[in-house]
Amino acid sequence: MILPDSTCELCGDGPETAVHLLFHCDFAASFWRALGFAVPTDLEARHIQQLPRPSHVEGGHYDTFILLCCWQLWKRRNGIVFHQETMSLHQILHACRREAKSWSCRLPCTERRLGDHWCSLFSLAM
Ligand SMILES: [Zn+2]
Repeated sequence: MILPDSTCELCGDGPETAVHLLFHCDFAASFWRALGFAVPTDLEARHIQQLPRPSHVEGGHYDTFILLCCWQLWKRRNGIVFHQETMSLHQILHACRREAKSWSCRLPCTERRLGDHWCSLFSLAM
């Protein structure tokens, strides 16, 4: 089924495009701000790997870190839209930290410490 109305179901403010949902929707914007990111207003979803990296975020596997964050924002959206769940900023940061711990096991052995770094980023943002 294709919905006749593309308005974002989370904020009701504008169409639910990928970039809106992942970066500019109110909750997503507060999520990125809490992590210390400055999201450019003209960021396009197909260029998310170009999201400017704050100096406190290590560069190794930066694309994976961004995907992890986007994945959690997407899961939160689906939980709200399909299951009437709620998830606070604190809760999503906690979920990100848990996921970072899991994902770090898939990094090369020499780079697994990045998982600890990512966990600390999420902890500091809580
Ligand atoms: Zn929205």
